[in-house]
Amino acid sequence: MDKKIRIGIIDIDDVLADFGSFIVEELNQLSGTQLTKEAYIHHDFYKFHDLPVSVMGDILRRESIYLRLKPLDKVVEGMYLLKEKGFALRIVTARGKSNSNIEEDTHQWFYDNNIPYDSIDFIDYHEKKSEYYLKYGNPEFVVDDRVYNLLDAQSVGVSTYCLKQPWNEYDINYKGPRVSNLLELADNF
Ligand SMILES: [Mg+2]
Repeated sequence: MDKKIRIGIIDIDDVLADFGSFIVEELNQLSGTQLTKEAYIHHDFYKFHDLPVSVMGDILRRESIYLRLKPLDKVVEGMYLLKEKGFALRIVTARGKSNSNIEEDTHQWFYDNNIPYDSIDFIDYHEKKSEYYLKYGNPEFVVDDRVYNLLDAQSVGVSTYCLKQPWNEYDINYKGPRVSNLLELADNF
């Protein structure tokens, strides 16, 4: 008997990897500020440092930067629990092609940090993630930290979980469950 394949769609940055803590340090260095990521109450991080948007691309184009990100709290446990519960873990990231090793580095990061997954789709920043959500079947959930992506998922009828971050905390446009970490997410299934 075929067991039903469960599909979960998972974002990387600020859901699995602590991009926010990395970028705030980089932007502090460039601007002489001493912010923490808790200050980022919207997603245009460079604006909190009075820097131009171009600094983001400059940082993301540096080789190997994604290998330096730390996993967020309870990521490994949460991802293993989702696997135990029968999920195929489909990663969809808008990291795009910001530097030449991005795909290799991202796979390496999962390996280095002992995080299980089944596939990764790299999409460009201007693409809608929802165009990728249905290609593996009918996902049971999408977890993301950006309200824009969560509303996009809801628009194609996929259930969403918002990974709590300062930039989504006050956004009332998102109506749906919020979780503090991946283990809390996995406990829902
Ligand atoms: Mg993200």
